[in-house]
Amino acid sequence: ESSTYARFVVSQLTDDERQALRGRYRAERDKRLRADGNNQYLEATGRYANLLDDPYTPVVSRAPLHTDVQVLVIGAGFGGLVIGARLKQAGISDVRLIDKAGDVGGVWYWNRYPGAMCDTAAMVYLPLLEETGTVPSAKYVAAPEIHAHAQRIADTFDLRRDALLSTGVESIMWDESLSRYIVHTDRGDVLRAKYVCTSTGPLHLPKLPGIPGIHSFAGHAFHTSRWDYAYTGGDAKGAPMTGLANKRVGIIGTGATAVQCIPHLSRSAGELFVFQRTPSSIDVRNNHEIDPQWFAELEPGWQRKWMTNFTVLQTLGFAEEDLVKDGWTDISIRIRDRMVELVKAGKSLGPETLLQAYEESDDEKMNEVRSRVDAIVGDERTADALKPWYRQLCKRPCFHDEYLQSFNNPNTHLIDTDGKGVERIDEHGAWVQGVHYPLDCLIIASGFEVGTSYSRRSGFDIAGRNGIALSEYWGNGMRSMHGIHVREFPNLFVIGFTQGANQIANVPQNYVENGLAIADIIAHAEANDMRQVEPTQTAQDDWLTFITSNKRGLRGNPDCTPGYYNNEGKPMSQSDTFNGSGHPGGPVAFFEFLDAWRQTGEFAGLTFTK
Ligand code: NDP
Repeated sequence: ESSTYARFVVSQLTDDERQALRGRYRAERDKRLRADGNNQYLEATGRYANLLDDPYTPVVSRAPLHTDVQVLVIGAGFGGLVIGARLKQAGISDVRLIDKAGDVGGVWYWNRYPGAMCDTAAMVYLPLLEETGTVPSAKYVAAPEIHAHAQRIADTFDLRRDALLSTGVESIMWDESLSRYIVHTDRGDVLRAKYVCTSTGPLHLPKLPGIPGIHSFAGHAFHTSRWDYAYTGGDAKGAPMTGLANKRVGIIGTGATAVQCIPHLSRSAGELFVFQRTPSSIDVRNNHEIDPQWFAELEPGWQRKWMTNFTVLQTLGFAEEDLVKDGWTDISIRIRDRMVELVKAGKSLGPETLLQAYEESDDEKMNEVRSRVDAIVGDERTADALKPWYRQLCKRPCFHDEYLQSFNNPNTHLIDTDGKGVERIDEHGAWVQGVHYPLDCLIIASGFEVGTSYSRRSGFDIAGRNGIALSEYWGNGMRSMHGIHVREFPNLFVIGFTQGANQIANVPQNYVENGLAIADIIAHAEANDMRQVEPTQTAQDDWLTFITSNKRGLRGNPDCTPGYYNNEGKPMSQSDTFNGSGHPGGPVAFFEFLDAWRQTGEFAGLTFTK
């Protein structure tokens, strides 16, 4: 398996073989294209309404709060926690986090399914390791350790004391006369916040697969982001799920979540039925423990260096060494080195050569991924059905060393739907190609809403100056400066990655870098007794023009098999283009730009008002 990480060797595929491969990819995509695109998914209502409840922390009654807040941070996941930490570092003490969840942690609070782990190396994924004096236990760490790290950030920066947990924001309205946002919550609170930071996350609202009859299922059912250990037994650390011993368990979906929990289900369930619409690409994991002695010798400032190194390599740049050295950097180093080979052979340094380098490296990589299935899975038919026929970056790449092996267990059955999905569900189970599979328990691993509107996903809208709703203002796509500031919404800071770095393989890097700028801006406004800060119209318009000149990026390709990476195969509208744009120079260029921008202390493009 270590050969997967061999440096690029020029692929042996002939032109005819490459054409045949492309034909197969197109055929597999065409099987999966559907007219309803994103609309195929269902909201968790009716029989599934309680799927959105918090199963982990009882809601404790408390008196509603009526108070002023200097900075209100909506969302207590890594985004909110890092912003909170950065504000505290900048000397802002009145910071209040608010979250629907009963504790901090965001996705790492909600996702407690067995096997949950982060595919991005802990050294770069876990934010503020140096600031919190934390040593990750392994190259990739499991969800409980990640959640504990979120709690550690909250405690280190004293963010828990004032946090409003088990509390959902219902509305936010700018009051010009007070220069404050008036925030109402589902616990009756009325908060008057001078600054609001929204960090509601990109993938947090569970969605249901649009399968006819899904509401009629009479057995036990839950979504992976609300794992029901009371029913299954076991725990988030991977203890055997004794409750499933005699059960017929079905799981719908084979994305990054399912890939991680299926090995555990396979060990515990009486019979396991994996309903597959599209197989994921499963590359090697190669996890290992971190040696604390090696870690202790890292120089101060190491984490920023590691994050930058990862991102430079991951975006086809050059670095002296590959510090993280994993499946993410492997993909991009192959493309980059192939590009170098092609240019040396006389090709021009442009998008066409990049596309050729990408496709040739990808052909090689995906052939390895498919060969790995053959090497691991005993049954030939099952192995064939588990092979992905698309380019690796069409869908979220997965990395696992036990998933494919699960299909060698006699109790584990792959029910491949040939790209069509489960036909229908009835009271007793699921139907695929005319065959009925009776089930006691249905586990829904169909992911989260991505392509729907910001206000639908966050559960609240924001009214800015003159009452304009953010949903309306962004009706034709997000409009911002740096992905952070929005005209007509003074003192609002959007925490994310869109229209900024767009660094998605290591999302927290966006937070640690953007957080430095946001904390500096608020500290500057406070030190100078400013009431408001807002981007000028020109600065925002210029930023949008700049980022939409972005022609980088190999994802979002309509030739890909559908998924949330390419808007379910639908052409991108202008608003999708806005939403998916980032700095044309890529994430590292954005972070360097933002750092230099904030360090001038001038904050060009923002207007501060007394
Ligand atoms: P995904 O959206 O990635 O996967 C959903 C799955 O459900 C797909 O396999 C999809 O098939 C399948 N599906 C949807 N509708 C049907 C249907 N009608 N019949 C059968 N199957 C259906 O969700 P995940 O929760 O797996 O992952 C979401 C994201 O969360 C990941 O992409 C990743 O970014 C993140 N994540 C990260 C992890 C990490 O390690 N850091 C771990 C887990 C998740 P199809 O492909 O055909 O659409």
